[in-house]
Amino acid sequence: MKKGSKLYSIFHLKCPRCAEGDLFETPSFSFRKPFYMPQHCPKCGQPYFLEPGFYYGAMFISYIWTGWVSLIFVGILIWGFGVGVNTAFALLVLLMALLYVWIFRVSRAMWLAMNVKYDPHALDHPLPVKDQAAGTPQKA
Ligand SMILES: [Zn+2]
Repeated sequence: MKKGSKLYSIFHLKCPRCAEGDLFETPSFSFRKPFYMPQHCPKCGQPYFLEPGFYYGAMFISYIWTGWVSLIFVGILIWGFGVGVNTAFALLVLLMALLYVWIFRVSRAMWLAMNVKYDPHALDHPLPVKDQAAGTPQKA
């Protein structure tokens, strides 16, 4: 995947503006701080929360991901490997427990990438980071 493409920032969980800063501080499969996301990109200052309730839309992407992964996984087990329905669904529950955080994060990365354009010079022009709680500019 080429750096600067939407797919690169989505699947590497990087800021869509600079493709350098991490969207999440911990690895997806570490299961530490699974849903915590900083307010801004640590490299270019791009806000990660564009408006209140911004990631509501990511929930629908997550739903689509989960639906297709479940259908394909259970379909392959039942028709491809002849596994029983109960076993297939038990394995699906295990798979979803493992992929839950990853799907959550990829869905947020997709939603943010749909709304933020890549800027190859983003690191030369970092956005001013504002303290949203106090509403005052903050030194980076
Ligand atoms: Zn960035």
